[in-house]
Amino acid sequence: MGKFYITTPIYYVNDRPHIGTAYTTVAADILARWHRLAGDEVFFLTGTDEHGAKIYKAAIEKGKTPKEFVDGVVPEFISAWKTMDISYDKFIRTTDTYHEDSVKKFVMKLWEKGDIYKGTYTGLYCVPDETFVSESDAKDGKCPSCGRQLETVSEEAYFFKLSKYKDRVIELIKNGLVLPDSKKNELLNRLSGDLKDLDITRKSVKWGIEFPPDPSHTIYVWFDALLNYVTALGWPDGEDFKKFWPADVHIVGKDIVWFHSVIWPAMLMAADIPPPKTVISHGWWTIEGRKMSKSLGNVIDPVKLSEKYSADAVRYFMAREKQIWDDGDFSEKSLESRINGELMADLSNLVARVLTIAEKSNVPESSEVELEGFIDFEEFSSFMGGADIFNALETILAGIRRVNKYFNDKKPWASSEEEKSKTLYNALEALRMISIVITPFMPSVGGKIANQLGLKQGKASDLKFSQFKGQPKRGPNLFEKL
Ligand SMILES: [Zn+2]
Repeated sequence: MGKFYITTPIYYVNDRPHIGTAYTTVAADILARWHRLAGDEVFFLTGTDEHGAKIYKAAIEKGKTPKEFVDGVVPEFISAWKTMDISYDKFIRTTDTYHEDSVKKFVMKLWEKGDIYKGTYTGLYCVPDETFVSESDAKDGKCPSCGRQLETVSEEAYFFKLSKYKDRVIELIKNGLVLPDSKKNELLNRLSGDLKDLDITRKSVKWGIEFPPDPSHTIYVWFDALLNYVTALGWPDGEDFKKFWPADVHIVGKDIVWFHSVIWPAMLMAADIPPPKTVISHGWWTIEGRKMSKSLGNVIDPVKLSEKYSADAVRYFMAREKQIWDDGDFSEKSLESRINGELMADLSNLVARVLTIAEKSNVPESSEVELEGFIDFEEFSSFMGGADIFNALETILAGIRRVNKYFNDKKPWASSEEEKSKTLYNALEALRMISIVITPFMPSVGGKIANQLGLKQGKASDLKFSQFKGQPKRGPNLFEKL
């Protein structure tokens, strides 16, 4: 038992919650909930990234001020996470005053140390839009938003001495900062080349946090955004910072691992703050075999999906359908088949069958244990400790199937009273433990099973055969066939 600090990236508010952001958030929630059950003191952070030229432009197009615009989008995230049963402890917005103040303090610390200097930033610029466009966003030298020719423009900017921390960052990554290993190797490969210093301010962007040493500049949006992980805890003096930093897990999509494993630790080193312990890189979803994109019109709304199938089913599917590190495919057909198969036929039916007999029988408080090891809880716990939610869930499923087989083989409906008692005791105890380990994945289902057993929700320390003290009463089916 100890503390556990887990974060999602903060989501950029020029987009609405989609299956990608929902996946990151659900995965973080599963881990946060497990650590709470295991008795850790958990701090689970999520939030929104609200500065930058893109937000400014989107606001102007809608005839709003940037603040009015972001204030209008943020509730969509909050409500999406509520629908999906996300148990975050804090929701940070980068327009929150405490965050802005803390970011300025951080910049001043690096400035006074001499880790920030003035230089020239050269990049592709769209004159009518007044924005720099990254090489990767530029389409044949044209602006991705208005299609006009981009020009190469130089602008005065302040730079962070990233190169100074290269060796220490390499050491950190070699020592296991990043999971999985394939990602670690990719980063080390890239770091074997040149590591340039980074421009961290913009003179042309007005919607951002003022750069204190030179107020004609604003702090570049990603630099401000990364700092949320410490400002949310009240860095430098906050009690939560003292208690929860360093982060145990930053869970991020594979496209932003570089930011979190190279740039972010270097920023922290510059400010004499310990680096995070683990950065988990997760894969992406395709939708029905195709890349998700607005232009293809195949962006899936996780909120609508949760309203249609239940948040529990969608969370289960996300954890079950693909390895966390890998890419996977999201299809409603496959979601429905997992609901009908695993959730309805395996889990819901088992609960209903056991409870139907148990509520009409004398259930003994104890009996000979016949299902010992039906789930290897040590293995389960070790998977969860390594953020391997896919294999952890696989372990539970195998356990559910074992109990099903046991119940079928024992035929308590046709056996002697003595045999029936033993079977019921074992099946009910197994269900009690299933209700505990399934809760991080499906919070509402875990609660419903405990409730039907006539028990309060258990904790990780209750994962062993003991006295059964419930009053079983069959409730509605957990899942219905679609
Ligand atoms: Zn343009």
